Amino acid sequence: MKKAKYVFVTGGVTSSLGKGIVAASLAKLLQARGYSVTIQKFDPYINVDPGTLNPYEHGECYVTEDGAETDLDLGHYERFLNVPTSQANNVTTGRVYQTVIENERRGEYLGKTVQVIPHITDEIKRRMRLLGETGQYDIIITEIGGTVGDIESLPYVESMRQLIWDLGEENTVVIHLTLVPYLAAAGELKTKPTQHSVKMLLELGVQPDVLVCRAERHLSTEIRRKIAQFCNVHQNAVVESIDVKTIYEVPLMMLKEKLDRVVLSKLKLSTRNEPDLDTWRDFLFRLEHPKGEVNIALVGKYVELQDAYKSINEAFVHAGAANECKVSVKFVHSELITDSNVHHKLAGYDGILVAPGFGHRGIEGKVHAVQYAREHNIPFFGICLGMQCSVIEFARDVCGLKGAHSSEMESQTPYPVIDLMEAQKQVTHKGGTMRLGSYNCELVKGSQAYKAYGKSRITERHRHRYEFNDAFKQQIENAGMKITGTNPETGLAEIVEIPSHRWFVGVQFHPELKSTVANPHPLFVKFIKAATEARNDQ
Ligand code: GLN
Repeated sequence: MKKAKYVFVTGGVTSSLGKGIVAASLAKLLQARGYSVTIQKFDPYINVDPGTLNPYEHGECYVTEDGAETDLDLGHYERFLNVPTSQANNVTTGRVYQTVIENERRGEYLGKTVQVIPHITDEIKRRMRLLGETGQYDIIITEIGGTVGDIESLPYVESMRQLIWDLGEENTVVIHLTLVPYLAAAGELKTKPTQHSVKMLLELGVQPDVLVCRAERHLSTEIRRKIAQFCNVHQNAVVESIDVKTIYEVPLMMLKEKLDRVVLSKLKLSTRNEPDLDTWRDFLFRLEHPKGEVNIALVGKYVELQDAYKSINEAFVHAGAANECKVSVKFVHSELITDSNVHHKLAGYDGILVAPGFGHRGIEGKVHAVQYAREHNIPFFGICLGMQCSVIEFARDVCGLKGAHSSEMESQTPYPVIDLMEAQKQVTHKGGTMRLGSYNCELVKGSQAYKAYGKSRITERHRHRYEFNDAFKQQIENAGMKITGTNPETGLAEIVEIPSHRWFVGVQFHPELKSTVANPHPLFVKFIKAATEARNDQ
């Protein structure tokens, strides 16, 4: 039974300073020193989870093994640490209020006025301590979303303040991320925003122990001293975080800055074991010294926002390193692909990935992209909606089922080759009601999927409502598209392949969610391998 210590990570000045990456990097360093670590994220919005958020709002929705729809930062945690997260690792204001209101309705606060303080803050504190109470972890890193000073993050900062008092100084450490901008006209790095941001935290009763300063240029000793003096922290607790080529360099940068040492010494934990980062460095070396290159088209409709396909992009980075090959991913907007321009839009790519998604917009462009990949023998990878599009295209163009569609897009289609799952037919609520989380899948020996995984029983994570319609199975299989992965419990088709094609794989699940630095996803690795071979054959 371990007694957990707590690291809090807050952000100031502006959003997008990379709090999630710094938290994940610190976790990596502590893990590499032999500590068992987990990370949790507290988000100040009122959605009960990010599942109901459009990807344009908040980037991709990351799904955990236990089927929680969570913030994309949990994806970074898993990719860095190679340990799964769960529902408990992501809490939103909506969830906190939901619990408090349910308690109130059950009469648990009978007679009392239910208030932000103490009821909301108590619930936040309870949730902040949940993972620590499992006895599995030495260190819990808690990232507080938003920026200090925002109205909605106040209860979180107050809860943190109280927890520090409850748990004691030697059991807690507060890291505050700030921006140290460079003013070209003055030729100087400016510390004022950092000072103001720390002041704001102090007004709320919290003295940060460590400042991680995002900057475009190195911080001189003088600047570090100034920040330390004005913000009341040790000089060695002023850590610089400058822009690097890839997020995977951040743990090494934090190691150089001794962030892990500063944190451990505040927590009175041993720094005796040096971090073992051999695998990490090896990955980074392969990533930064590619021997070849492939161009991949990512066909989707949320292409304006990088974060919308975060896990897919990262899975490509992992697979590129595994193949010692630079993967250049270009976003191709599915709404702009038509029958007449598809040749132009997709010419010259070594592989085509059709992305997950919801709703009708851009669907025909995706179907054209599938057809182009199929007819030109270009390695094809379809994920979730991408897999469904590959079935639609095959049914229309090879089986001759004119007008075949998914009933999500066209409820009156004569051939609903993709249809609503039986279990979904009664569902009216939107949040948390899809087929979510990890499910078993049995692979057909000899298939591309089997070759990739090297075993026949796998588990993968899902997030969808529609599925391959078994009524068309015979006809589709007879025409040359095979079901090579099936859910052993329900019989649902999970993977389709075209064996006569060089590499054509569509999966109903989301393999990208399980790709990590330590375990690049086998399907992404094989897709990139096939793309490399296709390029060499040209
Ligand atoms: N919209 C499709 C469904 O609900 C696919 C979902 C997805 O791509 N994640 O089945």
